[in-house]
Amino acid sequence: MSNDTARAGAKDIGQSDAGQSYTVPGFAGAVGFDIPTDLLIGGDWVAGWGGGRIAVLDPSTGAELTSVADGTVADGLAAIDAAEAAARDWAATPPRQRAVILQRCYQSMVDQADWLARLIALENGKALSDARSEVLYAAEFFRWYAEEAVRINGELAIAPAGGNRILVQYQPIGIALLITPWNFPAAMATRKIAPALAAGCTCILKPAEETPLTALAIGEILLRAGVPGGVVNIVNTSDPAGVCKAILHDPRVRKLSFTGSTEVGRILLREAADSVISSSMELGGNAPFLVLDDADVDAAIEGAMVAKMRNAGEACTAANRFYVQAGIHDRFVTRLVERMGSLKLGPGSEAATQCGAMINPAAIEKIAALVDDALAKGATLRLGGKAADGPGYFYPPTVIDGLSRDARILREEVFGPVAAVMRFDDVEEAVAMANDTEYGLSAYVYTGDMKRGLQLAERLEYGMVALNRGLVSDPAAPFGGVKQSGLGREGSHHGLIEFTEAKYIAVDW
Ligand code: ADP
Repeated sequence: MSNDTARAGAKDIGQSDAGQSYTVPGFAGAVGFDIPTDLLIGGDWVAGWGGGRIAVLDPSTGAELTSVADGTVADGLAAIDAAEAAARDWAATPPRQRAVILQRCYQSMVDQADWLARLIALENGKALSDARSEVLYAAEFFRWYAEEAVRINGELAIAPAGGNRILVQYQPIGIALLITPWNFPAAMATRKIAPALAAGCTCILKPAEETPLTALAIGEILLRAGVPGGVVNIVNTSDPAGVCKAILHDPRVRKLSFTGSTEVGRILLREAADSVISSSMELGGNAPFLVLDDADVDAAIEGAMVAKMRNAGEACTAANRFYVQAGIHDRFVTRLVERMGSLKLGPGSEAATQCGAMINPAAIEKIAALVDDALAKGATLRLGGKAADGPGYFYPPTVIDGLSRDARILREEVFGPVAAVMRFDDVEEAVAMANDTEYGLSAYVYTGDMKRGLQLAERLEYGMVALNRGLVSDPAAPFGGVKQSGLGREGSHHGLIEFTEAKYIAVDW
């Protein structure tokens, strides 16, 4: 389909009222609106060109929750039309006004945290407590970028040779394609939408197929908070490769912000290369967690539980490889097994659950394969180690130790509730093992000696190091990786600048 046809069609589908929606069980009437399950294009909920639907499953039961509209290439192009039509006015909207709208988005998400959390728990399978934390974390990106929207300051300098002035202004980069994963369906969306909007960009959000409902709920919240039609468009699709490729080859699109696997990140970088599109990439990780002999064991265990078990291990920042010094190793393992073993495994939407379901059967297969490989190569199983029977996709909290250096789990991201523990004697050896990976997202260090901890943090080849802390994520901090964990930063002022271009004006006055 040509762009012209798609453009003409955008109007038609923009005028159609598809009207399908979903009600979160237990919240009928309490939400104020049903969640639209169609595509959001130009401020309208539309069925799209193909008319197909994607089934949304509950990983805790395997049952279908509902279905959402399945966007096609034509819908992707229609979304670009809508983003283009809205671009000039949004870029010209005074920063203070953009900030006020973003602040309303923040407040609205906080006010509606209960049902949003339940929705995330249903479609992602994560524990309700994790889902609630995610909603509040996701909302914070709106608050932070409401505050940043009015601080997009430029620069003025005198050229070193004198005379000329160097004037730099940060302008919106243009239409952005935002591609998000299923593990944090709310936070990964808001971490991209909020800075894009603060910078004055319009965008197209392409959520993960597994968790489209949260994105659609956020879309309705944004519209109700006053985000003009076309500023944020949402296209779910069962053909992410085809739709994203078409969008990235449209010359009107100038920014790609992706969170997902390193493998897909590489594909997208190649696609983006054709039109030289500015790309921010948050890719995989395989975080090491170093515990030195002088660490406070209680604090290290608390940190380990957060770093490992937040989201049941389905996080790119999740601690996967625990390197524990010999003097503290046995105590650490005993305590970790106790704590991990006490977690209640269960359906995400049940309040008592502490470790929810994995996203799909493929996730279970991958976790099982990595655990089995480690055990076959001589590791000892301390806890768990066997997928639970269905229905639903459950893998229990698992601890293995004494791994051989060639165990695959030390190189590959497990993305599940599995802690692999290695003993070390010499700190130099631990640093070498921690850095021996293609990934470089986050690392954790526990030590009683801050000077030593800071020195180690400098030597760890990671974009983020948590020192005596189990959580790195913070909307006010630059989140991102080095090596094959990514390009660019999200959150903080850095995340805003990613959605701008520096315009240099040479002046002689
Ligand atoms: P995960 O392994 O965590 O599922 P993926 O990298 O496969 O992560 O998916 C993250 C996001 O990337 C999802 O929104 C998915 O639909 C999208 N995606 C997957 N393959 C492609 C592709 N070839 N082009 C564009 N987007 C893709």
